[in-house]
Amino acid sequence: MNIHEYQAKEILRKYGVAVPNGNVAFTVEEAVNVAKSLSSDVVVVKAQIHAGGRGKAGGVKLAKNLNEVRDYAKQLLGKTLVTHQTGPEGKEVKRLLIEEGSKIQKEYYIGMVVDRVTNRVVMMASEEGGTEIEEVAAKTPEKIFKEIIDPTVGLMPFQARKLAYAINIPSLLVNKAVKFMMGLYQVFVEKDASIAEINPLVVTEDGNVLALDAKINFDSNALYRHPDIKELRDLDEEDPKEVEASRYDLNYIALDGNIGCMVNGAGLAMATMDIIKYYGGDPANFLDVGGGATTEKVKEAFKIILSDPKVEGIFVNIFGGIMKCDIIANGIVTAAKEVELDRPLVVRLEGTNVELGKEILNKSGLNIVAADSMADGAKKIVELVKK
Ligand code: GDP
Ligand code: MN
Repeated sequence: MNIHEYQAKEILRKYGVAVPNGNVAFTVEEAVNVAKSLSSDVVVVKAQIHAGGRGKAGGVKLAKNLNEVRDYAKQLLGKTLVTHQTGPEGKEVKRLLIEEGSKIQKEYYIGMVVDRVTNRVVMMASEEGGTEIEEVAAKTPEKIFKEIIDPTVGLMPFQARKLAYAINIPSLLVNKAVKFMMGLYQVFVEKDASIAEINPLVVTEDGNVLALDAKINFDSNALYRHPDIKELRDLDEEDPKEVEASRYDLNYIALDGNIGCMVNGAGLAMATMDIIKYYGGDPANFLDVGGGATTEKVKEAFKIILSDPKVEGIFVNIFGGIMKCDIIANGIVTAAKEVELDRPLVVRLEGTNVELGKEILNKSGLNIVAADSMADGAKKIVELVKK
């Protein structure tokens, strides 16, 4: 789960990690009021969307007085911001972060991830802050330094110092940088984060080390033990189809293609997308209805797939082990009757109660193309959506 920059900064502040003073604003008036409460001449007005690259896209403004704060807030609220991370459709700005401007001496980068190669949390740091870290990694990988963290002892101060020196933090400020890194690590572990990125971390002219930007992602599987984090979820930032799916506990990810997929089991769902690609098609989604799905759940899944206007055909690929084929068949029939099914449907059923499932589908009067195998089904749906 992703959160906004201002929310990430509030968490960091609670852990003693230095961030600029500031607050969120939902309206122009609120923006001006927050600015009034701050003790600096220059105020930063920042669009809050779940995407980076806002600076280049005009989503970060420096205001020199309250009138400018008002103007920028008016300009940004309600605006659709297109950055290299939003996709061409962009994201509508509904919240702003209003914070004290910082006099930047230099911008750095600090990132933390769970590294799948070492099975450890890794802290990365670079002197090339403010720019895309992907770009630094591609062009000058020697400018990114890493410390692998042993979970039994956590981030050690000597490791933080090593990173601070490696990226040339002014020696007088190394202790502040170390404190920053130690605090960031504590947040990462205690809140079950999966990614934390401070880009840029800045050294200011008055000798502070602070997070000018903050991005934190959380491990969704650990959210049950962080009700405070769960509350920060902003559904406006998520695909409405994915939000609907999560209400029914369905594993659904929207994609760009035109073939809707309904599959049980994550592995089979991946394989189904692969085989559709193999026969020249494009999946519109990943969907794993899970092992113990009910008719109700299958029905909702089907409706979500159909609500996507890009979907020109559906491929149902079910291996009934724990999931029974008749339940899937019932779900499809109920959903198809509720939502007028106006697109081709290919079904491949195999496993427990397969005969019963096929019978339910045959008797339904629905226009269903039966497939004998996964490959056969993929070929058929790819052909049907071409027409
Ligand atoms: P992003 O583009 O979405 O990653 O947004 P950031 O929060 O990283 O802001 C982009 C850039 O705006 C930063 O790299 C800074 O150069 C600039 N910026 C942000 N806050 C301030 C500030 O307080 N003072 C100054 N001078 N520049 C700032
Ligand atoms: Mn940034």
